[in-house]
Amino acid sequence: MTMTSEARAAATLTGARRLVIKIGSSLLVDAASGQLNRAWLEALADELERCRARDQEILVVSSGAIALGRPYLGLTPEQRRLEELQAAAAAGQVLLAHAYQDILGKRGLRVAQVLLTLDDTENRRRYLNARSTLQRLLKLGVVPVVNENDTVATHEIRYGDNDRLAARVAEMTSADCLVLLSDVDGLYDADPTANAGARLIPAVTEITPEIEAMAGTAATEYGTGGMATKLMAARICVGAGCATLIANGRGLKPLAQIESGGPCTWFAPRGTPLAARKQWIAGSLVPRGVLVIDAGAEQALRAGRSLLPVGVTAVDGTFQRGDAVTVRNAAGQDLARGLATYAVDEVGKLCGRRSDEIEELLGYRGRDEVIHRDNLVLLD
Ligand code: GLU
Repeated sequence: MTMTSEARAAATLTGARRLVIKIGSSLLVDAASGQLNRAWLEALADELERCRARDQEILVVSSGAIALGRPYLGLTPEQRRLEELQAAAAAGQVLLAHAYQDILGKRGLRVAQVLLTLDDTENRRRYLNARSTLQRLLKLGVVPVVNENDTVATHEIRYGDNDRLAARVAEMTSADCLVLLSDVDGLYDADPTANAGARLIPAVTEITPEIEAMAGTAATEYGTGGMATKLMAARICVGAGCATLIANGRGLKPLAQIESGGPCTWFAPRGTPLAARKQWIAGSLVPRGVLVIDAGAEQALRAGRSLLPVGVTAVDGTFQRGDAVTVRNAAGQDLARGLATYAVDEVGKLCGRRSDEIEELLGYRGRDEVIHRDNLVLLD
């Protein structure tokens, strides 16, 4: 028996191990007063508590800093220059973080604020840092509340919309479901505000040019993601093995709505997050160097463990921290690909040494592994 699209969306949400929930400003901030929509956040916090109780890990990507900061600083709607928006974000982010900590905290959920820039997700050196921080927070049972670091991001280097940021966060953390909550029910085959006959598309198994045409063009205003940015987010996630749901968050229990078969658009993931990540590391990245390892390290790798400096016998290449490298055994056989924790000159210093010597050898307390097992793929 085949599942209905609604049942599949519900199962995706309840079955996800790691969930990213993106919350748009229009849900969180009352447009007329510019104040936080407290009742809404309280209700969402109940839902997050429910997800945590069934053992799901949650990351929240929340907009709203600019919308909250603007009235707080007394800025008029006309004051929309970049530095005014950045000032608003700086002030509003404090209000936002406080609200999350307060409201989620009442339900026993601990939160941590993570502000990211485009560079933190696109540049592999910084990507590794952001990824391990987020992973660690999740391991500690904390709900990371993520936003763009609007105060430092200029036009050229910012996302500008949290839809794509949320997709990158989902990809980076190997999440298996992203929920984009905004003020629309999902993707329609025509603009529903202009076309009474527009129909909701409940499921997308492939993002074709026809589907793209339905989303129209991107809204370019600061902090407003249109359907086009949502589709871009879905595209990123689908390729990363993460299912994506676009749903209306206007009601008080948007997740429960999805779970009970309410309207939304479900995008089918391509494969699993793990497979997508392995494909990315082993198949898409060009290796920038080679690490030769001894038999003990080979055994450890085959047992699913990380590569420690003690097992590295030689190193070659021009790689930086975060670049892909090939791992080879003494017989010259390529064993694995991975993202290096250290640059080539640093690995040169660490070869054959114990991890507790790293600080002395490099002058700072770096990570124990030359390649962490999460960033390592065995070649068959
Ligand atoms: N980062 C912006 C904010 O918090 C919002 C971006 C968006 O709405 O997509 O105000």
